[in-house]
Amino acid sequence: MNMFDLTGKVAIVTGGNGGIGFGMARGLARAGASIAVVGRNAEKSAQAVQELHSLDFQARAFQADVTDPEAVAGMVDAVVESFGGVDILVNNAGINIRKRPEDLSPDEWQQVLNTNLTSAFLCSRACYPVLKRAGGGKILNNGSMLSIFGTPWGPAYAASKGGMVQLTKSLATAWAADNIQVNCFLPGWIDTELTRNARSEVDGLHDRVLARTPAGRWGDIEDLEGLAVFFASAASNFITGVAMPVDGGFSVSG
Ligand code: NDP
Repeated sequence: MNMFDLTGKVAIVTGGNGGIGFGMARGLARAGASIAVVGRNAEKSAQAVQELHSLDFQARAFQADVTDPEAVAGMVDAVVESFGGVDILVNNAGINIRKRPEDLSPDEWQQVLNTNLTSAFLCSRACYPVLKRAGGGKILNNGSMLSIFGTPWGPAYAASKGGMVQLTKSLATAWAADNIQVNCFLPGWIDTELTRNARSEVDGLHDRVLARTPAGRWGDIEDLEGLAVFFASAASNFITGVAMPVDGGFSVSG
């Protein structure tokens, strides 16, 4: 038996149409899972699905704003109808509004919290009955180095990502008896659209990250593929509630 095999499993990946989410979707598909790519941008999702199809993987796009409880419930129903169930949920969708606390409006604060943290609660809550009915499942939550560290330019982002670790622990304890494992991963600096914007907005960011990362490079979305498979597969069946850095040593470097 290959304990990393995901053949026959169905994975929902929120924000699976680009960046880290796409990397995770591709890793899960490589291990045999069918992928539900969830995002707001239908064109981007269609492109991601096409790329997965070109690799001979099973994938379909589902348009939903993960901050909207009704849209989330409808999306989970549509995935179940389309693929016959759900076994894996990756809560990956996220945004940042790069402002100091004194400049961030209450609406902006709420938008970041809703997108990064409340969405994970909504999607997990909507998937729970389906996972339970299937006899178990896996939930992977995307945190950040800002689950651990603070920053002057992302108070809502850091609060949401710190909250993701605590949400992970709570869901893990609540649903362990249902054979649902819930874990969080904390990416270091990964080259994506999100960080390309940060690099152009924050002076010296690129070099500071390189200097602090013992691996001596920024991460690629490929670096998330194996992690996704590990946390989504039988290989991690007795691991729940943890927050694992994927950062080339950034968080352990002085
Ligand atoms: P991208 O901007 O490339 O991806 C963000 C994804 O989130 C998009 O696919 C977007 O799809 C989706 N999304 C955003 N808002 C919503 C919404 N309301 N409903 C549905 N989907 C939504 O960034 P990354 O790949 O870099 O980021 C992905 C995750 O990784 C985020 O949670 C981010 O915080 C986290 N992260 C990234 C790091 C990095 O270095 N890149 C480091 C640590 C964490 P669409 O536009 O179609 O809605």
